[in-house]
Amino acid sequence: MKSIVVIGAGMGGLAAALRLAHHGYHVTVLDKQARPGGRSSVIEESGFRVDRGPTILVMKSTFDETYRALGLDINQRLDFVRLDPNYRIYFHDDTFIDLYADLDQMAPEVEKVEPGAAAGLRRFMDASRRKYALGMDFVDRNYDHITDLMNPAAGIKLAATRSYERLYKQVGRYFKSDKLQKAFSFHSMFLGLSPLDALAMYSLITYADLALGMWYPRGGIYSIIEDMLALAADLGVKIRCNSAVQKIVIENRRVTGVRLETGEFVPADLVVSNADLPYTYRCLIDPQHRHDYPDRRLERMQYSCSGYLLYLGVDKTYSHLRHQALYFSEDYRANLDAIFTIKTLPDEPSFHLNVPTITDPGLAPQGHSLLYLLAPMPNLTGWVDWRSAAPVVREQLVRQLERIVDADIRQHIVWEREYTPNDFQSDINAVYGSAFGSLSQGFFQSAYFRPHNKAHDIDGLYFVGQGTYPGIGMPMVLISARLVTERIVQEWR
Ligand SMILES: Cc1cc2nc3c(=O)[nH]c(=O)nc-3n(C[C@H](O)[C@H](O)[C@H](O)COP(=O)(O)OP(=O)(O)OC[C@H]3O[C@@H](n4cnc5c(N)ncnc54)[C@H](O)[C@@H]3O)c2cc1C
Repeated sequence: MKSIVVIGAGMGGLAAALRLAHHGYHVTVLDKQARPGGRSSVIEESGFRVDRGPTILVMKSTFDETYRALGLDINQRLDFVRLDPNYRIYFHDDTFIDLYADLDQMAPEVEKVEPGAAAGLRRFMDASRRKYALGMDFVDRNYDHITDLMNPAAGIKLAATRSYERLYKQVGRYFKSDKLQKAFSFHSMFLGLSPLDALAMYSLITYADLALGMWYPRGGIYSIIEDMLALAADLGVKIRCNSAVQKIVIENRRVTGVRLETGEFVPADLVVSNADLPYTYRCLIDPQHRHDYPDRRLERMQYSCSGYLLYLGVDKTYSHLRHQALYFSEDYRANLDAIFTIKTLPDEPSFHLNVPTITDPGLAPQGHSLLYLLAPMPNLTGWVDWRSAAPVVREQLVRQLERIVDADIRQHIVWEREYTPNDFQSDINAVYGSAFGSLSQGFFQSAYFRPHNKAHDIDGLYFVGQGTYPGIGMPMVLISARLVTERIVQEWR
């Protein structure tokens, strides 16, 4: 059987390694970091265990399917808790609403903000459900030719759902209040896109987030990575950490293996890169081999936003909080413009607040809580100097926590870490320090137009993870692992 090197032990890289090993390939995974997981890594210190990146698990069916493909049931191996409500939304004026998967429970919440909005909510969710069904036709497949996009039925649905409009504008057709417009449009930020620019099609993520349920695996997201590592050991996959790849070695337009920064050559019949795709092309492949993605093309691509993360351990518990929450600053447009257009620090950042100890107290010492804050920020194509910006943003976030969590919170912080766009760049080679994924998911970087999972200019080179299709987020990278495996098995069996 062929030997395969996977560059990167992110969730997509690991899922592809497991699937390929299950098909009988000899798989070695190489990661530059000391610990596998990539963006889905973890920090374990002083009795606290906090997921470093993703915390919102939706589209659980993609996790179920990944394990089913290996002949396993994920629910027998991990303990999933369904979050109810899905999350709380805090507004700038000290009001909040809870968003539930159940429309009858959610209706009174939106009515609190905007009398009469329940009807708009039902229409919005119904339209988003139709967009989700339509979007899945384009997500769940490999692409070879542009004609693969031709789907007259989908074209009619696209027009009927007005999926081509701007997301924020379309949400305004269903909700009049600024608060609800924010609450039902922000989701495109997870794809690195401003809701002001994103296609209305992306309200399919709002649907997936709300209606399909939100889950929490006990032990945190990293417990999934740990379980994948245990499976890798069972399947004979070699995982090598502290093994940064310096070059993909190519002879006569064909990969022969990879060279590590230590100088070691690791031979392979096929190479699957899980590292950021624009980084892979620019830094791991010599220019004479790159026909499809020369530097000038990589420079023209649209890169997604970054984020500032603050992780706090506090010696107190807070029963009034929800596991997942979002805080929206008053001037949404100014916030989005700062992140996506001007690329400077927002005056008053909006942020995601995750308190996993609400569901899983074992993540912190007894009587303590963990608070995870993620504020979307411009990527490193802007002019923010993170050495001076980080303390400013930290202070802004802690001040908001004093309002919504505990006026005395500063006195209760016993452990603290932060993560900035510079860290994304230096730790995982994230292009321009992008957080959720490198290439934003506008129309011309989605489906057929997103870089394909097979290099057409270099034989034996494939891609998996957020840089290729279907795109950004844990469910998408799991689907990408299935798609690249299907392709490799079809081409090389
Ligand atoms: C803060 C944050 C919050 C997020 N929140 C969510 C969420 O709530 N829900 C959700 O679904 N998604 C979320 N995401 C997005 C999601 O985490 C990512 O899209 C997904 O995990 C990317 O996985 P991947 O397989 O593409 O690999 P990545 O996680 O990007 O891993 C790539 C790996 O390649 C390795 N690598 C790079 N260069 C080299 C080299 N030269 N040699 C060897 N190894 C190399 C890196 O070290 C890294 O381990 C979030 C991301 C972040 C950062």
